[in-house]
Amino acid sequence: MAKKPKRKKSERSKIIAQCDKLWSRYIRAKYADEEGFAECYTCRKRDHLSRLCAGHFASRRHLQMFEGRPLRYHEQNTRVQCFGCNIGQHGLQWVFGDRLEGEERGLPRSIFKAIQGATATTAELKGTLHELQLLQTTTPDDWWIQQKREDGDSRTA
Ligand SMILES: [Zn+2]
Repeated sequence: MAKKPKRKKSERSKIIAQCDKLWSRYIRAKYADEEGFAECYTCRKRDHLSRLCAGHFASRRHLQMFEGRPLRYHEQNTRVQCFGCNIGQHGLQWVFGDRLEGEERGLPRSIFKAIQGATATTAELKGTLHELQLLQTTTPDDWWIQQKREDGDSRTA
């Protein structure tokens, strides 16, 4: 049987995959306490970071630029969520939006407006990757990130 030629991953999709990994780690570390616990943004359940993920207000498929960052990797558009809310409830976008609005008036609207804008270029994504790599080395929660590397950290929604 003839082997199918492996489709080569584009540079862009490789960059996105690297950013996804770093971003999920960064967001979870950002909101965690020293024990590695954080609160789900939408249901407020506390859990260990290994059972939480990075949830997006505007879906993570959105790579449009918002204040110098693709929405998918923007702090204003990302919070910690439990899998129940993120996967089971599809992100509970209305609750997410309500809380964002409470934090900063008009923020959900600004994010939705950004979706109409231009998608990040590969160069912009490269710049983001570089920024995220720097974040990883400066975050004080590095210790648990190291730990997480070992156990199934593939869930990076
Ligand atoms: Zn939740």
